[in-house]
Amino acid sequence: MNYQNLLQEKVDQLRLENRYRHFVELERLTGRHPHALWHTAKGPREVIIWCSNDYLGMGQSTHAIDAMSKSVKAHGTGAGGTRNISGTSSSIVALESELASLHNKERALVFTSGYVANEASLSALIALLDNPIILSDSMNHASIISGIRYGRAEKSIFRHNDLNHLEELLKGIPKSRHKIIVFESVYSMDGDTSPIAEVTALARKYDAMTYLDEVHAVGMYGAEGGGIAQRDGVADEIDLIQGTLGKAYGAMGGYIAGSDALCDAIRGYGSGFIFTTAMPPALAEGALASIRYLRSSSDERTKQQYMAQYLKERLADHRLPALPSTTHIVPVMVGDAMKCSEISWTLLADHGLYIQPINYPTVPRGTERLRITPGPLHSTEMADQLVDCLARVFDAIQPPAYVAGNGKPNSLAG
Ligand SMILES: *Cc1c(COP(=O)(O)O)cnc(C)c1O
Repeated sequence: MNYQNLLQEKVDQLRLENRYRHFVELERLTGRHPHALWHTAKGPREVIIWCSNDYLGMGQSTHAIDAMSKSVKAHGTGAGGTRNISGTSSSIVALESELASLHNKERALVFTSGYVANEASLSALIALLDNPIILSDSMNHASIISGIRYGRAEKSIFRHNDLNHLEELLKGIPKSRHKIIVFESVYSMDGDTSPIAEVTALARKYDAMTYLDEVHAVGMYGAEGGGIAQRDGVADEIDLIQGTLGKAYGAMGGYIAGSDALCDAIRGYGSGFIFTTAMPPALAEGALASIRYLRSSSDERTKQQYMAQYLKERLADHRLPALPSTTHIVPVMVGDAMKCSEISWTLLADHGLYIQPINYPTVPRGTERLRITPGPLHSTEMADQLVDCLARVFDAIQPPAYVAGNGKPNSLAG
């Protein structure tokens, strides 16, 4: 058996389909976000990043940096073990307590990433409940899909944000059957939000648990950055809120917040929680500083929303095909994998602007796009320059006209 050739063929297939992932080597420099150095074969070059998930630039905030450096000096680098085997530090305990308070829940549980938080929590819940059925939004993230698969639950996929479809499916399930509705608050590829209050009303009516992924909202929405559920005043209606420390909080790690019983059960049964080295104290303290800061300051959120609005207006002025997003995520549609990569590359090579192409399987074929994430550290001048360059590159490369709804369903969805 020639394993190497077999694997190479699979990689070649990715290239053939324009799905081969080219990583752009960037060196971020403290205090310079969104500027970074792009390391090319010819040497380093300064670029502006327009697609970072360090949405508020907190990855370079002095609060987080000071907390983290101090903690490394005080407690060293690693955690020393799993949570059970000497890995439960005071830093992680303080972080969990802060997260519980942020979401107004009894308890929180920290994982090594948001991906692991979803996978471990969903699979554990599925094992703990009695043959539950999972009602999953068709646009849910890969980590949610993986958790459902790993738990081997029966799942029922409802059309994205479609309350009628969700209710239709709920109606068809026996009342006594355990049900979990799993959805996100901000969908990161379209930049739209879910009707949380309406979903929780359905959950009450049909006696379902609710599981909400707030990864793209925590830090950025609600008076203290508690997410869209906090902003809409419905956090108390949600059984489990899941979030990340790796995006707006600028660190790394994931978490869930919920009742004592819920968190304790997942703590005791979640394989991805139990059998892995705990988060290092310094990471926990960096994230904690960032969360505390964003609970007390709304400046970053306000500026981020201003920049998002500004950019959307400029894109509209230039008739660039932006999706009508209601959040800080601004997708500009291309609708072709090769052209999407080409536009992204031209922006980087010719204009020093970095926006990574989003192709299948992250989004359905035919809906390839650039996903722009303006933040508080971008200026209106930078946005003007970006739109000007985008217009020129779109003119030169001529992507197919985007028609709403022309994407094929994503084979990974649900
Ligand atoms: C990024 C992401 C995750 C995973 O979070 P990480 O902390 O990056 O592992 C989970 N859910 C959604 C919707 C995401 O976009």
